[in-house]
Amino acid sequence: MPRQDGSSPPLDALNRATALVASSRSRDEVLCEVLEAVCEAGGYGRATAFLLAGSGSLLERLAEAGTGGTGFPATVDPADPAAAVARAGRTGRPWIAVAPDGPVQEWSERAAGAHRLCVPVWNHERVLGVLAVERGPGSPAGRDEVDLLGVFANLLGVVVENRALHDAHESRIQQLLALQRIGREMTTTLEIGQLLALVVAEAVGLTGAEGGLLYLVEEGGEHLRLEAWSGREPAPERRRVPVGYGITGWVARNDRPLRVSDAVAPDAGVTARNQLAVPLHSGGRVVGVLGVEGGGGSPFTEIHEEILSIFAAQAAKAIEAARYLGEVRRERDLRDSILAGTPNGVVALGPDRRVILMNPAARRLLAVSEPPVGNPIGRYLAGGGFLERLDRILSGGADLESVELPLGSRDDPRQCTVSLFPLGERAARGATVVIQDQTERRRLDERVQRMDRLASIGQLAAGIAHEIRNPLTGVGISLDILREEQGLSEAGTELLADINREIDRLEALIRGLLDFARPQPVESRPMRVAKALEWSATFAQQCRKKGVVFRFEIRQNTKLRGDPEKLKQVFLNLAINALEATPSGGEIRLWAEPHRDDGGHWCRVAVEDTGPGLDEATAARMFDPFFTTKNEGTGLGLSIAHSIVQQHGGRMDVHAAPGRGARFVVDLPAMKEEDDR
Ligand code: ADP
Repeated sequence: MPRQDGSSPPLDALNRATALVASSRSRDEVLCEVLEAVCEAGGYGRATAFLLAGSGSLLERLAEAGTGGTGFPATVDPADPAAAVARAGRTGRPWIAVAPDGPVQEWSERAAGAHRLCVPVWNHERVLGVLAVERGPGSPAGRDEVDLLGVFANLLGVVVENRALHDAHESRIQQLLALQRIGREMTTTLEIGQLLALVVAEAVGLTGAEGGLLYLVEEGGEHLRLEAWSGREPAPERRRVPVGYGITGWVARNDRPLRVSDAVAPDAGVTARNQLAVPLHSGGRVVGVLGVEGGGGSPFTEIHEEILSIFAAQAAKAIEAARYLGEVRRERDLRDSILAGTPNGVVALGPDRRVILMNPAARRLLAVSEPPVGNPIGRYLAGGGFLERLDRILSGGADLESVELPLGSRDDPRQCTVSLFPLGERAARGATVVIQDQTERRRLDERVQRMDRLASIGQLAAGIAHEIRNPLTGVGISLDILREEQGLSEAGTELLADINREIDRLEALIRGLLDFARPQPVESRPMRVAKALEWSATFAQQCRKKGVVFRFEIRQNTKLRGDPEKLKQVFLNLAINALEATPSGGEIRLWAEPHRDDGGHWCRVAVEDTGPGLDEATAARMFDPFFTTKNEGTGLGLSIAHSIVQQHGGRMDVHAAPGRGARFVVDLPAMKEEDDR
């Protein structure tokens, strides 16, 4: 009905509603405003929009305007024959309710009156819902009115559809953004187990699924093994499936995505779920299958399939990278543990003589405390013709070089065999240096040789001592008889006294010899090492007198089984030898500490001096009885000490380094603290 100014309320309302279609406000706000325009256009007490939801099983009230009339229920069953809303929704034609709670009938111009008028909302030839109005007293509804409501209903259809498209678009953008973010996340997750779990979790998130499974093809290509999953725990038979079997196996065999909905898998009974699985590719082959599944909700769509396929391509790349890296790491760890476990030093050098790699044993033998990689090897190993040999290897002049070198630190000198081999291609030839520590082997050899020699010397010495002692006793008795004889001249008496003195000296020697060859049995009992070192204070005074510094340290007062008097004799002997060898201004160090090696637990006592040291030849013979380099020496001290240590089940070594002082090391078997017998 046009007004005087030419405007008409229905047209104004329609124009306003049309303008709302393009509005960016929320769907429900826009729907409410359109419905308000409907109320205004037709002077209705109430206007309500219903939408067919849940695959057409329900009409849901979506939005409403106005407060008049009795209003409409929140949901309407489309099959309800008594509801005009339901009839309009099902038939796609206008329906009316003649009176409140009155009968319903399809609209016609001839109908007497209409309390409610319901028109279908169409879009793309499909009924989306219903626009229902309450008109107050039941006057007839004319064609114009029904047509106008039809236009409004169309508008509602457009708003609903637009919004659905917009939402789909929006969620697509969100999914693409998520893909991008996940892609970044995946490339930074390099641990394979973590990555596979992440892939499943993200696949589930991207598709709105309830659970996910990731299978990788096993070596041999016959089976797929479940590597990661989320959601409901998979049944045991799903943990390893043959290629070609079930949905997963089908996808792997046919190299195509597969979507299965509950509706098409009714045979699966109650466990039927919506499933979507896509192949994972690497190097042109199917290497696995990524699947997602939902409960009884809406099936996965083509869009889900597309998104999951894009994601699977990214995931496969990340998995490939992580697997490769895993292999490289495993190889590196293996190499490192071999290198770390070998007792030999291994050094790899570049063509420029710089260190590429140095294992822990090499660092110890070369006394390297800094990170050596990149430094010239000459900084750690230069003398004894090593660098000349290295040059021959690097220049291709030799394929194997070997040299004996004293290495290690001052505190722990080591005798080593250093071998050199070429490393890498001829053009960029580096070198591998292998350092074999021969110290222990040599020490053991020396010990065995020494013991053999001392044993035979011992036998010989005991025999000779015995043979000399008897006649010597006879000579002594004869001398006593002679001395008793009367009439000996003064010179004769003097001569007899001389002979007696020489006999005493010989007897002392024989006693020493027998001490070494047939030592008295030791009286072993549990003791602490400090007990055998109680003379240290007196010894320190003697050192001071000579101007020698004495450093004494019991690092641990280890328990051992021994004869304190005999052990005291051993250590004092070593200390006195050291003091005799050390010039004024020098230093003697004596320390006791526990020591562990393959042979067991030891109590170690070391005596070190800054005297002239010894050459190899002296070191080799110094434990022999009567070996002495001193004018007044007997040469029995060390041999007796050696046999006492042996009686205790211990061992004794000397570290010979001419010009660098001497170091004697005695190892005695240590007792466990809790033992007392
Ligand atoms: P003696 O002391 O009577 O010579 P030992 O058996 O105690 O007998 O020593 C044997 C030899 O070992 C000594 O003569 C000396 O040449 C050498 N020797 C022992 N201790 C040291 C030392 N600390 N430094 C250098 N040489 C030593």
